[in-house]
Amino acid sequence: MIKLVEGFNFLNTIKRVIFGSKTFLSFNCLLFTMTISPLNTWLTSASEPLLIAGPCGAESLEQLQQTAKDLKYLNKVSLFRAGVWKPRTRPNAFEGKGEEALKWLAEIKKEFGFKITVEVANAQHTELALKYGIDVLWIGARTTVNPFSVQEIADVLKGVDVPVMVKNPIHADLQLWVGAIERISNSGITKLAAIHRGFYVYGKTKYRNKPMWQLPIELRTLFPELPIICDPSHISGNRELIPSVAQKALDLGMNGLMIESHYNPSIALSDAEQQLTPTQLGELISKLIVRKQRASDNAVIDKLAELRNIIDEVDEELINVLKKRTQIIEEIGNYKKEHHITIFQLERWQEILRTRAQLAEKLGISRNHVEKICQLLHEESIRIQNGVMNK
Ligand code: PEP
Ligand code: MN
Repeated sequence: MIKLVEGFNFLNTIKRVIFGSKTFLSFNCLLFTMTISPLNTWLTSASEPLLIAGPCGAESLEQLQQTAKDLKYLNKVSLFRAGVWKPRTRPNAFEGKGEEALKWLAEIKKEFGFKITVEVANAQHTELALKYGIDVLWIGARTTVNPFSVQEIADVLKGVDVPVMVKNPIHADLQLWVGAIERISNSGITKLAAIHRGFYVYGKTKYRNKPMWQLPIELRTLFPELPIICDPSHISGNRELIPSVAQKALDLGMNGLMIESHYNPSIALSDAEQQLTPTQLGELISKLIVRKQRASDNAVIDKLAELRNIIDEVDEELINVLKKRTQIIEEIGNYKKEHHITIFQLERWQEILRTRAQLAEKLGISRNHVEKICQLLHEESIRIQNGVMNK
């Protein structure tokens, strides 16, 4: 039997299809499956949470050695990162040291015993990274947006057993993210992870890249087995925001963190404002609260079940209230039709929004949340009344 399960319905174009015991994804009418190896089969976690750290860019052997030495001392880093080819928005900025830096990273691997990850953006990068024994590859946000580049990388990876992490595309397009992961998966790679690094939005926001948490949540809904690593550095763009973003990622059950660290961020050749010293990174990690996915203590399980029962009842009540609202809307629609009154009346809508928001504030719940719900209720009301008018 085929059962369709919609994801979070955020983009409403990717659906899970449960076919017997197998889960497929229906993606623009194409069905596909993915085999995903558990994260702990290819990356041993040195700490809780799993931590990937290292400088934004590999600048010199000395910079890598100094940073790796301080990170080694922390004893919490599972994978050492460094960009060797840096995709810069404008020309004439530091664009990475290329092949020379791969030689330095091979030294770091030998000297400190770290597994190493670098960003690859095309076939040549991928071939070189493999040649120098890089342990894990990652695809950057500016590459995930380009199916040609991702396919080029995927073609080089056919028959190669190397883990690949795919960052989300620059903008909030879940399909592009899934598509890039799918291309790598199709080349036979099973050691896969996604990296959530936030999304560029036009205009000023407090983040360099807005987290838009609903996207990684939707990705998790579609591929529950796919590990998702959060990159608070590129979401935040500055040191101050990193702790709250990292904590939120853990609270949402993400599988690890990728955080940029430089022994002296003030002299970093790229992303200086968002890099932490290894000491700062150690302090941050020790302050993070890692919550369990599932409770093991019976008393905790019972209490949680009790609270969830209450939520179930409240949701049932909410849906019953919605049913009542729908019936009244139909009645209003019929009445307006009889008396030739238009469906949409601006003053009434403004009044609904204002009074409900005031009530939310009075009750101490989020005004913004209630306004969003009102917006949805209003859209549905218009849809129902349109139906009534056209009957
Ligand atoms: C990076 O990790 O240094 C990087 C360039 O990231 P992103 O692709 O997320 O911008
Ligand atoms: Mn960076």
